[in-house]
Amino acid sequence: MDAISRLKLLSDQMTFEPDAERRPGCFAAPQPAPARHPDDLCVHPAQMPGGKQILLLKTLLTSACERDCFYCPFRAGRDFRRATFQPEEFASLFSGLAHSGAAEGVFLSSGLAGGGVRSQDQLLDTADILRNKLGFRGYIHLKIMPGAEKAQVERAMQLANRVSVNLESPNTERLAKLAPHKVFLEELLRPLRWVDEIRRSTPPDKSWNGRWPSTVTQFVAGGADESDLELLTTTAWLHQNVSLKRAYFSAFHPIPDTPLENKAEVDPLREHRLYQASFLLRDYGFDLEELPFTGEGNLPLPADPKLAWAQVNLAEKPLEINRANRHDLLRIPGIGPKSADAILQARRQSKLRDLSALKKLGILAERAAPFLLLDGKRAAYQMSFPA
Ligand code: SF4
Repeated sequence: MDAISRLKLLSDQMTFEPDAERRPGCFAAPQPAPARHPDDLCVHPAQMPGGKQILLLKTLLTSACERDCFYCPFRAGRDFRRATFQPEEFASLFSGLAHSGAAEGVFLSSGLAGGGVRSQDQLLDTADILRNKLGFRGYIHLKIMPGAEKAQVERAMQLANRVSVNLESPNTERLAKLAPHKVFLEELLRPLRWVDEIRRSTPPDKSWNGRWPSTVTQFVAGGADESDLELLTTTAWLHQNVSLKRAYFSAFHPIPDTPLENKAEVDPLREHRLYQASFLLRDYGFDLEELPFTGEGNLPLPADPKLAWAQVNLAEKPLEINRANRHDLLRIPGIGPKSADAILQARRQSKLRDLSALKKLGILAERAAPFLLLDGKRAAYQMSFPA
């Protein structure tokens, strides 16, 4: 197979892998639509930290793998067409795509072939050639492989804009149901701790951008029958203890010819609720105990968790928008971190007396109205809002 055909095969196969920049892969209800390079490569628009959008090539260096994770399309022994790149070959191919403008960044992962250390070395060598031989200064997201060594993690951090370790499940017991040969604490959690240790103890390499990369992880939601509470407990711990930038949730989807092929698909709405809840924990000052879990520890699918909280806690005790502190403003549906700051700033000038003043600040006023007072009064149209 020629190089472009292999890259097409690998980047298409990577669409099975949950995304760590933005959701869709090429075939999973893309929104916005992916770009198709003239050679039919799958390159999709991805949101960078800071909001810039780039064309991201998401691919594996090899789809060969010696492990047998139950949910994974790349598991050893599964019959499908595999492909492999050597570092030099991939780096020069990608460099050509970058020069032509067909791709502006790369998310590079790999199957495990020859152990975690060797597989990580292949990824590192590729990134090193891109950065130091071919002068690529664009976005690189590198996967940290299970079993990688600390020095390799540090090297990945020197080369990449983002590194990720996929935890897949929230704890050891759940991981055993998905990937019996992955070791949760030693192979997955420990590298995340190393990233945080290195970030805290060592100044970043000044050779290219002088910043340590952000760290993300990914969970297969529902793959091990875990609850949302388990997933979010681990997520909250990661935010607090290893400076995790973000957790990604991918609703379990059965892959043919794997041990979980007959397991029911998980409703994608569950992903959405998990994202909403994780943002409440990370950015809105919510505690786990405040989230509206069911008795089984799951978020109700029909309810936005922030709205559900507000209906219980604020509907009868609305907050005065002109006096509430930032923490309380963030509790009001329709008000996010930026709009809370805008309210704090605006009310230094004058009192906020009507919904149009809130709309001008970018607030979803209709959503917020039932839960606030404007200079002591409820918003006029709120009478028609269901209790
Ligand atoms: S190690 Fe990774 S690529 Fe290999 S089977 Fe497990 S999840 Fe899939």
